[in-house]
Amino acid sequence: MVTVPRNWSPDPEQMALWPEVSGNAINGLGETARRRPRHVYWAPDPAAIPHGKAQLWFYRRNAGPEFGRERALRQEEALRPLPPLAPDPAPGTPGDWSARVKAQARALGAEAVGIARIDPDWIYEGHEIAWRNVIVLGIAMDHAVMQAAPEPAAGLEVVRQYTRGVRVSKALAGWLRAQGHDAAPEHGPLAGAISLVPAALAAGLGELGKHGSIINRELGSCFRLAAVLTDLELETDAPDIFGADDFCTHCRICADHCPPDAILAEKQTVRGEVKWYVDFDRCLPFFNETAGCAICVTVCPFSRPGVGETLLAKLARRAQRQRAQPE
Ligand code: SF4
Ligand code: SF4
Repeated sequence: MVTVPRNWSPDPEQMALWPEVSGNAINGLGETARRRPRHVYWAPDPAAIPHGKAQLWFYRRNAGPEFGRERALRQEEALRPLPPLAPDPAPGTPGDWSARVKAQARALGAEAVGIARIDPDWIYEGHEIAWRNVIVLGIAMDHAVMQAAPEPAAGLEVVRQYTRGVRVSKALAGWLRAQGHDAAPEHGPLAGAISLVPAALAAGLGELGKHGSIINRELGSCFRLAAVLTDLELETDAPDIFGADDFCTHCRICADHCPPDAILAEKQTVRGEVKWYVDFDRCLPFFNETAGCAICVTVCPFSRPGVGETLLAKLARRAQRQRAQPE
């Protein structure tokens, strides 16, 4: 991990492109009523969002030939047409289909998979989704490569794994369509119609960490999300609560490593929900100048191969002791 001085300050050329409005305001920081999210970044049309000029600056700043090749590959994958919808839907119970979908997702390369009923609160303002279910896919990043964060090698690994997310989500949607069940892929890094983080939490992929990313019990935070939307009746998963949220209360590794000091020590109210929160206005300038930073997800102890298992065992023992204590 490259050490970045805490007195880091952003490039004035970038900051000249920043809008008046705070990204935290767009995100709904401090708002007590529930509402649907708004695109704050990674808009498909940067001109449609206040931080669009900063988004374009990110692409200009991180535009080496390897980034160009990977982005072109991802675009090619994204534009590849899906197979036609077969006329006769293959039969099966929701339970059968959930098991088959998960086995197929893993066979296609997803390292984690879960299923949730779509909640309208996950749909971005200005978008509508008619699909009933979301199959959320976890696409692992190579932790050894991510150790380079915040150098471009880590950013390139992020881009590579987003490309793999496109490939896996499209292949899974295509597999469902070939069996007569309509489905559509949904993938990053550009924001689509649905916010995938709450969907992934509901689908049992893990808990939200202090660094604002999901902590999965096997992958830690060293993964990216992709998804498939479908109307196929499926058995859904429950959230996976294994103690990460509580662990974050007593840990500050990510916050201590964040050069612009963007990771807040206390949970915040965001659109009616109290949760861990990263200050967008502090994080993004550093993120933009470092091909996507990723220090916080890399230093999280749950992300270190082998360490997550030990932490899980500790958390399970702690929970057992707490249950055994008399009221
Ligand atoms: S990604 Fe953002 S929050 Fe995470 S360490 Fe980098 S600057 Fe901090
Ligand atoms: S580094 Fe520590 S505080 Fe940050 S997300 Fe991971 S476990 Fe939570």
